[in-house]
Formats: sequence, C-alpha cells, structure tokens
Amino acid sequence: MRHFAIVGSGPAGFYTAEALEKAYGEGARIDILDRYPVPYGLIRFGVAPDHQSLKAVSKRYDKVAESAGVDFIGNVCVGRDVSVPELLELYDAVILAVGAPHDRKLGIPGEDLRGVIGSAEFVGWYNGHPEFADLDPPLDGARAVVVGAGNVALDCARILSKTRHEFEGSDIVGHALEALDSSSIRTVTILGRRGPHQVAMTPKELGELGHLEAAVPEIEMADFPPVEADEPLEPGLRKSVSILRSFADLPQDKPKRMVFDFFAKPVRIEGDGRVERVIVERTELDEKGSARGTGETYEVPASLVITAIGYSTSPIEEVPFAGGKFVNENGRIADRLYAVGWARRGPTGTIGTNRPDGYEVADRIASEMPPGTSGDRAGVEGLKRLLDGRGVMPTDYDDWRKIEETEVANARPGSPREKFVRHEHWLQAIGR
Ligand SMILES: Cc1cc2nc3c(=O)[nH]c(=O)nc-3n(C[C@H](O)[C@H](O)[C@H](O)COP(=O)(O)OP(=O)(O)OC[C@H]3O[C@@H](n4cnc5c(N)ncnc54)[C@H](O)[C@@H]3O)c2cc1C
Repeated sequence: MRHFAIVGSGPAGFYTAEALEKAYGEGARIDILDRYPVPYGLIRFGVAPDHQSLKAVSKRYDKVAESAGVDFIGNVCVGRDVSVPELLELYDAVILAVGAPHDRKLGIPGEDLRGVIGSAEFVGWYNGHPEFADLDPPLDGARAVVVGAGNVALDCARILSKTRHEFEGSDIVGHALEALDSSSIRTVTILGRRGPHQVAMTPKELGELGHLEAAVPEIEMADFPPVEADEPLEPGLRKSVSILRSFADLPQDKPKRMVFDFFAKPVRIEGDGRVERVIVERTELDEKGSARGTGETYEVPASLVITAIGYSTSPIEEVPFAGGKFVNENGRIADRLYAVGWARRGPTGTIGTNRPDGYEVADRIASEMPPGTSGDRAGVEGLKRLLDGRGVMPTDYDDWRKIEETEVANARPGSPREKFVRHEHWLQAIGR
C-alpha cells in the first residue's frame, strides 16, 4: 500500500487525486487535506457567483471524493497544524496544491489607503470567504476603478455593475447582495496598462458585458489599431478584440458605465484618509510589447479601487519558494515532494489547465514508485494521532455534505445555496 497526501482541495488537488487513483487503484490511499472544512478552493471562493455552470465542475470532484481510495480531510492547515517534513514522514509522497491566494501589489504610493482592496479580498467577500466577510468595501461613492486586463478584473467590474435581479440563480452571499443593491457606484473604469491586443480577457466574459441590464461598456476607438491589424492575432484574442470593438456601437442609454481605459498605468493613489483619485500615466508599447510610460498623467476619481493584477502562493516553512510560487522542476520540488496547479505554475490558465498538471505529477510519482510496490508509511492513521495530540479536529467528506445540505436548505428563493461565511458556522453545522 502507498499513502499519498495532497495539500489543497481545489481543482489541482482533485485532478491529482483522480490521476493517482486511476494509476494505483486499490494500491494507494489518497488523502486530500484542506485548511477549511469545505472543499473545492476557488471553485467556491473565486469563480463568480453568477457563473454557476462553471461551478458545476465540482460534481466531478465529488465523484473523486466519494471513491474508495480517496478521503477529504478538512480543517487542517499545513504549515500550522502539521508541517511538510512531518507529512513526508507519514506519506510516500506529498503534493502541494495550495493555490495562490494572495494579491500581487501594485507597489505604488497610496496603495494602503482605505478603499484600495485586492481582488482576492473583494472576490472572497462576495463569495463567502470567512477571511473577508467583514471587508465592507466602500460602495458609497459614484466611481470605482478596477486595475487589470484579465477575467478577474472583468468579474469585479461586472459584479459591481449588476442589478439585484441579475443575481437571481447565483450563490452570491447575502451580505454582498444587500451591499451591492444599495451601492452608489455608477461608473467603473477598467485600467489596462497595455492595449486591446494585449488583453487576457476571454470572449465569453467580454460578451456578457454587452447584455447587462443597467450597465453599458464604453471604449475609445483611438485605443485600437486599424482593424486589419487584428488578422494575425490568435483566434480567441481576435474574438475578444472584435467584441471590444463592437462596444463602440452600443447605445449609451443605461445608468451605469463600464469604461475601458487602455494604455493606462496607475502611478499613485491619492486621498485624505481614504482613496479619492488614481493618478494614471498614459503608456505606449515599446519594441518588446511592454508598456512604457509617456510622462503624460491624468486623474481618475474613485472612492473604491480594486487591484486585479495577479496572485501569489503563501510560502510554507521548509519548502523552497521564489517568484510567488514553490520552486519546482516540472512539478517536482524535492524527493517525494511535488507541486501542482497555481502553487506550481503561478496564477494562469483556466480550471481545466490544472488537469494536465495533476496527471503529469501522478505519472511521475507512478514511475518513481511503481503501482504494486509498497512503502511502510503510517499514512492517515499516523496523521490522525499527530493531530489528536495537538488538539486539531479534522473534518471529513460527510461533514462537508452536512454543511452543504444546510447551505442548500437555507438558500433564499432562486439561489442554489446560502453559504456560511464564518468558520465557526461551518463547525456549528456539523455539531462541533
Ligand atoms: C476570481 C477568480 C475567478 C476565476 N474564475 C474562473 C473561471 O470563471 N473559469 C476558469 O476556468 N477559471 C477561473 N479561475 C481560475 C481557477 O479558479 C484556478 O485555475 C484554480 O482554482 C486553481 O486551482 P488550484 O487547485 O491550484 O488552487 P485553488 O483553487 O486556490 O485551491 C487551493 C486549495 O488549497 C487550500 N489551502 C491553501 N493553503 C493551505 C494550507 N496551508 N493547508 C491546507 N490547505 C490549504 C485552499 O483552502 C484551497 O482549497 C478563477 C480564479 C479567480 C481567482
């Protein structure tokens, strides 16, 4: 028998478990550990609540969690409750699938002013992440700025612009729905350092903006090269650019605006105790396609600034770390220690991009410890003894199902669930 510990129950963790299960069958026990009693990582806490069809991927992960060789062990934080060297003593291999939960910083003056928040915080707030339940983003001003040119920036801008009615069928948490419903924000400016040809926004997410109930996107045609220049673009990007161009034809007849401001780099955030404006420098592309400041600046008024410029992984003691992720070579960090998903590659790609990561690392493990061979590690029994000695009470997959059932039973009409937004409420739901 082989014992494997996967740390993190997001997409990368689950795809790795699926791959290891296929490779080893009954010859392995696979434990998926998570710091929370609720699984699925950013499927629960990141993917937008009005994109329910994407969240349905968790049904596939349910099947993995329910299979005989796999256990979900929640409420255990690796690095705090148990260390990586301890896990390596207990398991044949340890796979870190802890994601990249921290916002990258802009690194400009004024970033610490009240009202400047990272997208991980804002997204966590509307998705019921317990660390951000008390965020209380300022929605009392008329203007917000979102910094970034990817889908997370679009998620933030869209959520700020939707009506209450448009959240029907979503699982946005009640506190966010109420706050957004009484929000005064009428203009959301999306700042992109480079131009329309450099966006990382995908066609589906952009297309949605043309059909919002109370908001209309706005672009400046002068930011676009001649239409023939779109021809050599990769097809997905070409579609995105053509959708962006089509925004020029939309009637500006709705009360809210989503303004795309390209070639715009924030250089300073100003305000008296809280954010009041962003000072932006106009940019142009240099020979390598990077943004170069032109020296021309202007200000964009805003009482809320959301930065959506990428994420980094949390370091874990005794695991080599550089550039916002664990140092690894094709997923291998050290002997019997691996990384997958965002912890391996950094915060890029879609949910599905994590699948080949997991399968590749599982293949590698299977070549180093061929199925049919055995080790002499204590596995989960040893882990439970160790945690017991430290007063840590892990939860299991049945506990998660109880939490989920309660969330579904508590759902407001039209919503698939009413998420708990406090760690202690998860524990109460399972009688702790
Ligand atoms: C705002 C946002 C929206 C997105 N929307 C989409 C979308 O619409 N479509 C799409 O395809 N992709 C989307 N993505 C990308 C997608 O969510 C990621 O590709 C994917 O979640 C990365 O998977 P992961 O398993 O590496 O990390 P995560 O999903 O972050 O999972 C990491 C897990 O590790 C756990 N963990 C962390 N630290 C520890 C620790 N020390 N001990 C134990 N457990 C720990 C966490 O609790 C979490 O469960 C979005 C991402 C974000 C940020």
